[in-house]
Amino acid sequence: MVGMISTEIRRFVGESPENRFSGGGPYFDDPLVGFAAAGDPLFREYKGIIGDFHRTPEEILAGAASVVCWVLPVTRATRESNRRENRWPSREWALTRHHGETFNNTLRRHLVAWLEERGHRAVAPQLAEGWRQLEDPAVGIASTWSERHAAYAAGLGTFSLNDALITGRGIAHRLGSVVTDLVLAPTPRTAPDYRHNCLWHREGSCGACIGRCPAGALSRQGHDKRKCRDYVYDAVPGTVGERYGVAQTGCGLCQTRVPCEGEVPRATGRTDS
Ligand code: SF4
Ligand code: SF4
Repeated sequence: MVGMISTEIRRFVGESPENRFSGGGPYFDDPLVGFAAAGDPLFREYKGIIGDFHRTPEEILAGAASVVCWVLPVTRATRESNRRENRWPSREWALTRHHGETFNNTLRRHLVAWLEERGHRAVAPQLAEGWRQLEDPAVGIASTWSERHAAYAAGLGTFSLNDALITGRGIAHRLGSVVTDLVLAPTPRTAPDYRHNCLWHREGSCGACIGRCPAGALSRQGHDKRKCRDYVYDAVPGTVGERYGVAQTGCGLCQTRVPCEGEVPRATGRTDS
């Protein structure tokens, strides 16, 4: 069944007209798909790591057995357009953030319906009743379901200096997930630790994302979520949102023109710390 679900997600991403720029190419390339057991102890640990407000799969769907997760890689053309920018995201990046995420919601609903048609129960946590974003004094901006943490549990990547997830297709992507009562074989987590794919964490080198951030939100100490939030949700849409014709623009400068942009970066053997 994991093969059928992966095939259906890949088919939908490949064929849906919603995954396309107006009159142009796709927002997202062929996705990666992974599976986590709903009972994986990680989901309970997330309550300690993220906050008690973070929901377990069981809290989202009574009788939950599995979490289906996917990575929608931003296309090379869009990544290249954002590489050329230093202050504001490119138009293609902003359209992908806005319309691509609308498509991601369509994919969430599609997979729920597809599973229900086959007699299973399913819920997309980010579209579920009770999902909310909040500002927690301990962890900053957070939500009741982290797609990044679900994708980590499903073996799809590891965390980075800039608080994102570096997957087999890099760091420039959108993520999604659906919780179901269908029992599915979990995808093994093969990385030696939860930050392995980031060169800074792995060998103390790189740090390229620090210099890419126009908001001063990144440093060797990590990611200042408040500075990033103010830039991504206020400064950028306030400056280029109208010109691009979208409310959500993203930023993504720290996810492009960096070694982890489209792949897991190879070791340099250098230590810059
Ligand atoms: S640019 Fe370098 S330091 Fe920053 S997240 Fe990517 S691999 Fe890590
Ligand atoms: S998304 Fe933009 S503002 Fe936030 S850390 Fe990355 S470059 Fe900085």
